[in-house]
Amino acid sequence: MKKILITGGAGFIGSNFVRHMVKKYKDYMIVNLDKLTYAANLNSLNDIVNYPNYKFVEGDIADREFIFNLFEEEKFNIIVNFAAESHVDRSVEDPGIFITTNVVGTQVLLDASKEYEVERYHQVSTDEVYGDLPLDRSDLFFTEDTPLNPSSPYSASKASADFLVSAYNRTFGLPTTISRCSNNYGPYHFPEKLIPLIISRASKNQFIPVYGDGQNIRDWLHVYDHCSAIDLIIHKGKVGEVYNIGGHNEKTNIEVVKTILKDLNKPESLIMYVKDRPGHDLRYAIDASKLENELGWKAEYNFETGIEQTIKWYLDNKDWWQNIKL
Ligand code: NAD
Repeated sequence: MKKILITGGAGFIGSNFVRHMVKKYKDYMIVNLDKLTYAANLNSLNDIVNYPNYKFVEGDIADREFIFNLFEEEKFNIIVNFAAESHVDRSVEDPGIFITTNVVGTQVLLDASKEYEVERYHQVSTDEVYGDLPLDRSDLFFTEDTPLNPSSPYSASKASADFLVSAYNRTFGLPTTISRCSNNYGPYHFPEKLIPLIISRASKNQFIPVYGDGQNIRDWLHVYDHCSAIDLIIHKGKVGEVYNIGGHNEKTNIEVVKTILKDLNKPESLIMYVKDRPGHDLRYAIDASKLENELGWKAEYNFETGIEQTIKWYLDNKDWWQNIKL
């Protein structure tokens, strides 16, 4: 039986990945470690909480003594690190915790993985580490060889963590992989992020804040496609490699807002343009051909059907998000 540590498993993508793994691999023990910050919600896992191959542990990845004790006790085979401070706006207001969790926390996990000789350490990273692309060059995409050039304290902390992971592979021979994914959407997404924010505010007839002129482009991937990609990488990915994950679903922010308003039958007069985010990245676009060609991964969801299902999920699961305080 393999024992897998998934950190940040009470957050958006982590909880979807925990469910994916617990249901798919009955012979694996899945340990979900989460600090339960404002972004966590254990209700996201109500449906699997009693599965015999699932266990939750509350704790902080940056707490060295706690992490080393946990590794000593559990003897993990595989580590998948989702735990992070993840909101760019919060990193602009207060970068410190981003360094503690995203950089120091990653280093602690790497040290413990080295000490206890895990079979695989996987770092969940983001396309934001590459910086941004110009809006008028739709021919350009981020590849795994694109130099890291982060713009925000959030992406700088994630890039720092990626460098540490690569260094532990090169210097200590730690068997690592890194994945860099585009923007995710889907169920259990904390409502401070763009898509759930639009759905929750529009359904209450509240105005929808849009940064700048709304022309910034994001590449959207359904969270289930992200989960299938990470599953594949931890099992089949080559040690020491980086894999980009993306679904070629580039949309301007304003297009996303208008699509959701139309689906909800709400007027565009709810849109309110607000002062742009400082350092706001213009365009993200991922080239995922390495993952597709080498490991045979393919995104299953196109944005149009994925967003429709996501909107329906939020309308059917108001209990999950309505009481969350922003
Ligand atoms: P999230 O904010 O929804 O969840 C993060 C989780 O980590 C929360 O449950 C939180 O309690 C936990 N956490 C925070 N600090 C911790 C600590 N010190 N110790 C233990 N747990 C801690 O984030 P998300 O959107 O699910 O993102 C998960 C990962 O995926 C992050 O590493 C993020 O950088 C990466 N990522 C996200 C996206 C996206 O679109 N959301 C895209 C690409 C990559």
